[in-house]
Amino acid sequence: MSAAIRTLSLGAGVQSTALVLLACEGRIKPFDAAIFADTGWEPQRVYDHLDRLTEYADAHGLPIVRVSTSNIRDDALDPAHRFVSLPTFTLGPCPTCIPHGHLGYVYDLPLPDYDGEGPSTYTGTCPKCRGTGEAQGMGRRQCTNEYKLKAVKRGTRDLLGYPHPQPIPRDVFADQAVGISRDEIGRAKDSGVNYLRSYFPLLDMPGAADGRTGWTRADCRRYLKAHGWGATPRSACVGCPFKGNREWREMRDNHPEEWADAVAFDHALRAVPREDGIREYLHASRVPLDEAPIDRVTGHEWRSRQTDVFGQIADARLENGDPDGCSPWACRSGEPVVAAEVPDGA
Ligand code: SF4
Repeated sequence: MSAAIRTLSLGAGVQSTALVLLACEGRIKPFDAAIFADTGWEPQRVYDHLDRLTEYADAHGLPIVRVSTSNIRDDALDPAHRFVSLPTFTLGPCPTCIPHGHLGYVYDLPLPDYDGEGPSTYTGTCPKCRGTGEAQGMGRRQCTNEYKLKAVKRGTRDLLGYPHPQPIPRDVFADQAVGISRDEIGRAKDSGVNYLRSYFPLLDMPGAADGRTGWTRADCRRYLKAHGWGATPRSACVGCPFKGNREWREMRDNHPEEWADAVAFDHALRAVPREDGIREYLHASRVPLDEAPIDRVTGHEWRSRQTDVFGQIADARLENGDPDGCSPWACRSGEPVVAAEVPDGA
């Protein structure tokens, strides 16, 4: 059985842009189409990059198809769409002490049987909120599934000639290239659906700087730079909460219109009080973005250095965010998305 079509899942970041150029140069097998899932809220420089890439790819016979399920910014502020959440940082009534009517204090809280000597209880300052009555949390990241994976799957179905909800015969499928580099091989996963079979051309590329087979992100960057694409931007939503302090600073200082947009969005998240009392924030400090301590190490960050055994990782994330943005199938922001959780073509 051979694939009906060969596609590229185009996140428009470093790795997938390198794959477009490699295919256009004939160094890897050509694609019938590259599919870009548009959340509607990428920075303008990503759209500019995509326009340039589309022109280049078109000239080499490779169409870039843009697909979209909806606009993530609009949906996030629409109470009817709130079920599709961004991974925002939250503050809200403590679920451990408040339901029992004791703000910041717990009585006879059942404890796990750590020592095998039977059940025990704890009475004292609430361990969840440390006596403040407010607990921190984080929204579930459903956005990558909803706005990227679902859109790519719909686009692939259309290209295969079986738009949703038509059933697709078992022997009809697309080979889908995904831009996973050797340094992130753990993100190379199946698509989770029969009609979309992922493969990872960068892992087989010869000529890496260290002499091994398989390109790293640095190899891709070097290649892009040598071919006039050194300014390939990081692809991620303007208001993605996975941004680190460095990126927020960079946005504030160099892209004031994006910064104003993200600040307005951050405020709008809390403009209509939620029934459950939870407030959402874009910055990990859980203060409004325009007041967030993005220029210095916060007390929160300092405490996490003191107490978190993974402190180095936590600190790096707070400062730098995730390295290369959000892309379908290989989302580099937060934990990898489990593709099998995405409804089939829905
Ligand atoms: S960039 Fe961030 S907000 Fe946008 S889809 Fe990815 S994880 Fe969600």
